[in-house]
Amino acid sequence: MSEVFFKRGSYQEFLRCPQHIVDGCRKAGFAKRCKRNDFVGFKLHFGEKGNKSYINPSLLAPLIKFFHAQGTNPFLFETNTLYRGQRMNSIDHIRLAKSHGFGKLNVPIIIGDGLRGKDEIEAHVELKHFSTCFIASALKDIDFLLVLSHFTGHMLTGFGAAIKNLGMGCASRRGKLAQHCVVSPQIKEDKCVLCGECAKVCPTAAVLRKDKCFCIVEEKCIGCAQCISVCPQAAVKIIWSEEYDELGEKMVEHAYAVAKHRKCAYINFCIYITKECDCMNKENNEYVPDYGIFFSEDPVCID
Ligand code: SF4
Ligand code: SF4
Repeated sequence: MSEVFFKRGSYQEFLRCPQHIVDGCRKAGFAKRCKRNDFVGFKLHFGEKGNKSYINPSLLAPLIKFFHAQGTNPFLFETNTLYRGQRMNSIDHIRLAKSHGFGKLNVPIIIGDGLRGKDEIEAHVELKHFSTCFIASALKDIDFLLVLSHFTGHMLTGFGAAIKNLGMGCASRRGKLAQHCVVSPQIKEDKCVLCGECAKVCPTAAVLRKDKCFCIVEEKCIGCAQCISVCPQAAVKIIWSEEYDELGEKMVEHAYAVAKHRKCAYINFCIYITKECDCMNKENNEYVPDYGIFFSEDPVCID
């Protein structure tokens, strides 16, 4: 069994004394696994626009100072979303992160799958659903990934924490679509204005003009999700998988792809626990009382 460290406390208590989080990292021995000049990515979720339950940046300031003091280069790391919103490209995403207070931490904010969520690497896994997984390209140069997860409920996966932050949160847009979708996206005729942008970006020429509409040829589609991001009308529909077990398994395979070849450590913030995840563009209320913060080098044990 792997060790899991725990510091009991409420959201307000940690806000008053965020140094407890540094103490937890020390006890768990995270810093010993880094060396001078290492690039240390703090994997976070900045919260969707209108959401307030994401990890409060004030909790992270002493942690960043601590990693700086070890001679490492900490930075904030995230990937773009599959669906439309304020986090679908790096420009809007960084702007949103700054508006949620992450700019005041004075470390770079790096969106690891590039400007439009297309920068990816292929990780070989040879598992049940995938032989390879598509994950954010910046991961190949990260020396140490500190996965900071806000524990919440989740409508598809039951709850979200370390494994979800790794598997879904570090996948490129294509990787996210491969987890969520069992078939190719579809074009909603009633919303489509025939601009042709989706056909222009499709790398496999899977989007075809047919009489008075565009459609996607399933056999040609590789599920890269670029058509979803460029459509100005939100007319390209994701066919969300209702096979929850399958989604969970696919997410775990992506988490394995990320964790397999790099040093990782995990902190789960079980404070301000909400019923739905931080992707919700609304103010989520606390659903159960605060519990505390967990630290571990094992994503399964910590979850
Ligand atoms: S980008 Fe959207 S609106 Fe334009 S043709 Fe494609 S589906 Fe229709
Ligand atoms: S998901 Fe990618 S491959 Fe499939 S139709 Fe859209 S752009 Fe083309």
